[in-house]
Amino acid sequence: MSEFADAILQGAEKIGLIVSAELLEQLEKYRSFLALKNELMNLTAIEGERDCAEKHFLDSLALLGCAELVGRRIIDVGTGAGFPGLPLKLAEPSLGLTLLDSAGKKIVFLKELCALLGVEAECVQGRAEELSLMKEYRGAYDYCASRALARMNVLAELCLPLVKTGGALLAMKARDCLDELKEAEKAVKILGGEVERVYEYSAGPVPRSVVIIRKISDTPPGYPRRYSKIQKSPL
Ligand code: SAH
Repeated sequence: MSEFADAILQGAEKIGLIVSAELLEQLEKYRSFLALKNELMNLTAIEGERDCAEKHFLDSLALLGCAELVGRRIIDVGTGAGFPGLPLKLAEPSLGLTLLDSAGKKIVFLKELCALLGVEAECVQGRAEELSLMKEYRGAYDYCASRALARMNVLAELCLPLVKTGGALLAMKARDCLDELKEAEKAVKILGGEVERVYEYSAGPVPRSVVIIRKISDTPPGYPRRYSKIQKSPL
């Protein structure tokens, strides 16, 4: 067995996930394609089979432990090489998945990867703050998941407008994120959210958190603002 497969099976136990032979094969295919393309373009700084298994794949799959994803619609904002959205779709095929990234070359990579894996997902090049001004995307998702995109106050403005009232933002963060969360309290409230809970997990040696922000009312018109404004004066 490869070091990657071994790490996946070991880590899956830690997060209470059963990995079928078919899923393991799909994850291996994903990893190989990522490693191959990473030599040609900058997709990830994480190399090494164990690190990649823990920090990309298991970290993404950990979301299965904190949200009921069966048959739901999810958008992964700033997905990069597909994390966390694509591993989730492989594990839960009934998920309706949109992968969003502002970088065109990442979208090209993701389209090729989805074709290789035989996965149906909408891969969109665009900016979150622009997409959520479009009727078909604003308030359209049960969940928005995001990892390594921005600090929580900025993240809330980029992501919450895409979530439907009753849905949730799943913000993947380091374990120690309480200061960041406190700083974002006002932003979350203005945008129609409420912190529901912080889900703590360890898929590898590093402890991590998912901050679950429930959307309790529609985001008011006027949000999100332009990106320069969001960055310059975060809520
Ligand atoms: N989620 C991935 C990648 C994180 S890097 C992971 O955890 O591995 C952040 C990614 O967000 C980059 O690929 C960048 O192109 C994208 N991005 C930055 N700002 C964005 C925005 N406003 N809308 C959509 N994507 C954005």
